[in-house]
Amino acid sequence: RKASQRANAQAECRLADGTRVEVFANLGRVGEGALAVAEGAEGCGLLRSEFLFLDRTSAPSEDEQLAQYQAIADELGGRPLIIRTLDVGGDKPLSYLPLPKEENPFLGLRGIRVGLIRPELLRTQLRAILRVKPYGVARIMVPMVASVTEMITVRTMVEEERLRLGRVEPIQLGAMIEIPAAAVAARQLAEVCDFFSIGTNDLTQYALAMDRGNPAVAAGVDALHPGVLGLIRLACEGAGAHGRVVAVCGGAASDPSAAPILVGLGVRELSAAPAAIPEIKAALAAFTVNQCQALAERAVQAQGAEEVRALTGASA
Ligand code: PEP
Ligand code: MG
Repeated sequence: RKASQRANAQAECRLADGTRVEVFANLGRVGEGALAVAEGAEGCGLLRSEFLFLDRTSAPSEDEQLAQYQAIADELGGRPLIIRTLDVGGDKPLSYLPLPKEENPFLGLRGIRVGLIRPELLRTQLRAILRVKPYGVARIMVPMVASVTEMITVRTMVEEERLRLGRVEPIQLGAMIEIPAAAVAARQLAEVCDFFSIGTNDLTQYALAMDRGNPAVAAGVDALHPGVLGLIRLACEGAGAHGRVVAVCGGAASDPSAAPILVGLGVRELSAAPAAIPEIKAALAAFTVNQCQALAERAVQAQGAEEVRALTGASA
């Protein structure tokens, strides 16, 4: 790592023309927050809360969850902490959460669908998040949202728990865009969300009909496929119609060559692996927003991910 990058780690991320882009970190357990801040994270854009739920015989209690979320919030020193509600499914069975055996677990009960059929589990997690101090630091993010109805149901639960806990101000509630239909219908979804965060890992797998974990198709699973970029653009347009911010928290956000394209499509927050943050900030500082938009336009019209990667001057 260059000394200049280390020295500048705490600087906020700006494009060459001063346009602000927030660079957050993806976290997966207690202890990673301090490291992420040292790398220059401006907050946590995705806390994968699964670590609390896996490899145990009963669900974590509200107090147990709160202790872990609070520890991470403290590590972040007042920076935003976006906590994703439990994202498990038939492919990751939990003994205390019996789910039917499914032929196609990736098209079955996973993400928020599990929370909606087990509302006590979801409400316990929502209460723990609502109790993180100082109030306002923690935000709630919902995985695998397919419809406006799901988001309205979750919001109703959040509001009920918030009032029960006596929190006066609303809490920020966002949807992950991981399902192509949610990207296409983003305008309607944005109306009932405070923010979007695009999960490019799942969005790419579902858009291309390629299992993200299947080595036989791994070479084709690229978020820079023009069709996936077109979905990201639709998500940004839908969000923009309601003044909502769009983040990317999937793997594409950790790819320095993807960053200017994502910003050109309208993304204003990237949540990356902590170690990738200095490089992402440096990559963005070389572009103006107009250059990002011109690059994005060419990327969306390219023939394939290979051509997009050639545009960025990098290979996968
Ligand atoms: C994604 O799908 O891009 C994402 C961030 O969620 P996960 O990788 O945890 O499925
Ligand atoms: Mg996902």
